[in-house]
Amino acid sequence: CGIFAYLNYHVPRTRRDILEILIKGLRRLEYRGYDSAGVGIDGGNSKEWESNAKSIHLIKQRGKVKALDEEIHKQQDIDLDVEFDVHLGIAHTRWATHGVPSPVNSHPQRSDKNNEFIVIHNGIITNYKDLRKFLESKGYEFESETDTETIAKLAKYMYDNRESDDLSFATLVERVIQQLEGAFALVFKSVHYPGEAVGTRRGGPLLMGVRSDHKLSTDHIPVLYRSSGKDKKSCSSIPRTDQDTCLFPVDEKAVEYFFASDASAVIEHTNRVIFLEDDDVAAVVEGRLSIHRIKRSAGDYPARAIQTLQ
Ligand code: GLU
Repeated sequence: CGIFAYLNYHVPRTRRDILEILIKGLRRLEYRGYDSAGVGIDGGNSKEWESNAKSIHLIKQRGKVKALDEEIHKQQDIDLDVEFDVHLGIAHTRWATHGVPSPVNSHPQRSDKNNEFIVIHNGIITNYKDLRKFLESKGYEFESETDTETIAKLAKYMYDNRESDDLSFATLVERVIQQLEGAFALVFKSVHYPGEAVGTRRGGPLLMGVRSDHKLSTDHIPVLYRSSGKDKKSCSSIPRTDQDTCLFPVDEKAVEYFFASDASAVIEHTNRVIFLEDDDVAAVVEGRLSIHRIKRSAGDYPARAIQTLQ
């Protein structure tokens, strides 16, 4: 019932700092109600953030955020002093709708035992039974009773069946949400897309916070409707074509992004926020934010304003 994610890009943070930020974010969302909580972070303990991002570590607990925090401090295989130049951590408080409150039903939910794709979800997927049946017929084995697990497995299915290695995380998520019915706010993390984050919503609340000491060169992010398969990883100007993705040009500069269900969880970090709209797919790649949407109607290019909260 509460989503919080934190991405630091060229802002060095220890794992301890990252976990503290995630736990604090969850605490701010506690008032929304929940029965369990969990986090997903990078698993490696080396000095290289990119190699640490090749594995994902999940910590999930029934009960209060405090119980999750205690569980975090019991972890043997992660070093809290490791510093990450780039990292994405995702965190969730769950209000069970499908499946009892338990560690395995808590979020993040995962695609497989290697945690290739993990997702946090607020809402309900009404067609999850059909999706589950389809995925089981393809050999995917489920471990939880949640509707959410189908989303993580669908992401892996899209990845395993990708037509080329250029498939971006955002496009993959667009393909996933095209199959979903119901209400959701989602944030994805993957070992295949180190240092990248994708968040999206339909019906459920989701906003982003942006913090950077560098001048952000635009306060409006045009939202582009993707109509062709061309995936661009980066661009320096604001594109106006529908094949391109609009990016928030911070050019290798330090920046931090937050995803949250509610502004109260990001306000202590930044007052610059972007409220995502239904079917927006917001992706951070190499520190740049792009927001795009599955094409719906031609000629419609609304902007997402960065608002300054008082
Ligand atoms: N339907 C999902 C579940 O039961 C998410 C519930 C929530 O919004 O916390 O796991």
